[in-house]
Parts: sequence; C-alpha cells; structure tokens
Amino acid sequence: MTEMTLPDYHDVAAAAERIADYANKTPVMTSRTVNEEFAADVFFKCENFQRMGAFKFRGAMNALRQFTPEQRAAGVVTFSSGNHAQAIALSAKLLGIPATIIMPHDAPAAKVAATKGYGGNVVIYDRYSEDREKIGRDLAQKHGLTLIPPYDHPHVIAGQGTATKELIEEVGQLDVLFVCLGGGGLLSGSALAARHLSPGCVIYGVEPEAGNDGQQSFRNGKIVHIGTPKTIADGAQTQHLGNITFPIIQQNVNDILTVSDDELVASMKFIAERMKIVVEPTGCLGFAAARASKAELRGKKIGIIISGGNVDISRYGEFLAG
Ligand SMILES: *Cc1c(COP(=O)(O)O)cnc(C)c1O
Repeated sequence: MTEMTLPDYHDVAAAAERIADYANKTPVMTSRTVNEEFAADVFFKCENFQRMGAFKFRGAMNALRQFTPEQRAAGVVTFSSGNHAQAIALSAKLLGIPATIIMPHDAPAAKVAATKGYGGNVVIYDRYSEDREKIGRDLAQKHGLTLIPPYDHPHVIAGQGTATKELIEEVGQLDVLFVCLGGGGLLSGSALAARHLSPGCVIYGVEPEAGNDGQQSFRNGKIVHIGTPKTIADGAQTQHLGNITFPIIQQNVNDILTVSDDELVASMKFIAERMKIVVEPTGCLGFAAARASKAELRGKKIGIIISGGNVDISRYGEFLAG
C-alpha cells in the first residue's frame, strides 16, 4: 500500500463527537494501594465498563456512523471470534444496519450467543480448512456488504483513540501510558491522542510474551508475522500488526513490552481483590507491564488502559482460584 494517508488526532476528535451519544464515558479509577505500591499516581481507564464490555465499541460505532445510505442498507460484514464481533453486532443493531459476522466453528458458545443476541447474522466457518478473509470478501462482493476489519481501518483506529482522549482530558497530562496491544488499533489510536494532548508522554504497547510479533516488528522496522500465539490473552492473539496501525505505532510509540501469562493472572487477581472489578486476561496487559517496571515509575503520573472485561465466568473463577 502506498499513497495512504494515516489518521491523525483530528480524526480521533471527530470520532469522539460521532460516538458521544452511543458510547459510555467510562470511569477512571484509582487505588490507594496501587499508588502506595508504585509511589506514583496511577489512573486506570476502565473500558471493561464500555458497552458490550470492551473499547471495541468505540471503533465499530465510529466506522458504522460513517456509512453512506447505500452501505447502511446493504449491511456490514466482519470476521472475529471476539470483542470486535460483538462491537459490530451491537453498533449495527443500534443504527439499524444488518450485520454479518463470520466466526470459527470452535468459537466459544457464549461469544456466538452474545453476537446473535445483539442481532448479528452469524456465519460459521471451519478454522482449519477455510479462509475467513476470503469468505468475507466473497460475501461483501456478492451482497454489497462493507467489510470492517478488527483493527486495520482508519475509522476503527480513530474510534479506539477516544478512550485515551477521555482519560487525558479528565486527569491531565501523563508521564507514562500503558496500552494493551493485539493488532494495534487501540495502541495506534491511543498514541495519536496521547501525542497530541500530552506530547511528552512515554507510550508503551504491551503484548503477551508468547505473541511478541509487535515487539519484533517495532525493533526490526517491518511487520513480522507469527503463528497464532498460545496465551490466555485471547484478545491479543493476532498474528501481525496492520499496514495502517504499524506506521502510526512506529512514529508515536516509545517501546513495546511483553508480559507472561503468569503475570497476567497475578494482575487479574490483584485487580479483582483490590479494585473489585472483573477484567479479562487481555485487559490486564498494561497493568501487568506497569507492575513489572514499578521501580522506574516512582513519582510519575501514569495512565493504564484496562481494555475489556469479557471473560467466561467459570474460567475467570479458575484463574482466581489457581
Ligand atoms: C481487541 C482487544 C485488544 C487488542 O486491541 P488491538 O486493537 O487489536 O490491538 C485488547 N484488549 C481487548 C479486551 C480486546 O478486545
């Protein structure tokens, strides 16, 4: 791809207006225990309280709100087994747009049910023998549907950036910001917001150790592809960054850090016990990385994006008990 104009802060600001009537302005939480432990001021932006339980509603709504009447009438299609599926299904329902979601045959029943519950038309494919992107393209062509991918789309990126915009507008400029990283929609959007509103802020993306393609890409200067990583952070099991998210990350992010699944479980427990909130494993990436670099954060003002809270409740129980 050449001749591509990357989204910028103004797109994030426009997205904020576009989604204002639909998205929750999520709470910013603090914890005395955390502040004492860190000897710092830590602010958690809690997107687990966003509609459908994750920040992905922001990007999906920002994208669908820009459909032309023809696109609205024909409908939207996407492929995802996770939060993006629910985000598209719910946004489409609220706007009266038909939605088709392509999900793997082994997607968790709860996620398929949630997507159907939001009115999405679910198309099941075989993860091992079929290509979901081809199914998406074919459906899009045949029925005139518009494909909205989970991260590599300028409207999705701009929408995701609104969470960090809200955070900085509420608490003021930050010294350090920690953001969960999968395909980079959240990180690139957050970086656009933070660079503009808090220019001196050090911005870290955080990935699961087993899926450090983003870190490899950042350090090698080109997009590195990996196999589906084995990690409990199912929202960050992406195999590569995007053609739009990567250059934004290269230009605006200071570094990409990684954390282990054990660190994620420890952080999930800590957040449950001390802050009394349910956060999914992927949502703990930023906090887990901050805990690991506590020594360097003394006296700083720190933002952490808690990205979502959608975790099967019996699995969650096992994490807490283990
Ligand atoms: C999708 C998702 C991520 C990763 O977001 P990207 O935009 O793909 O980097 C992180 N946390 C949660 C809860 C998610 O649903």
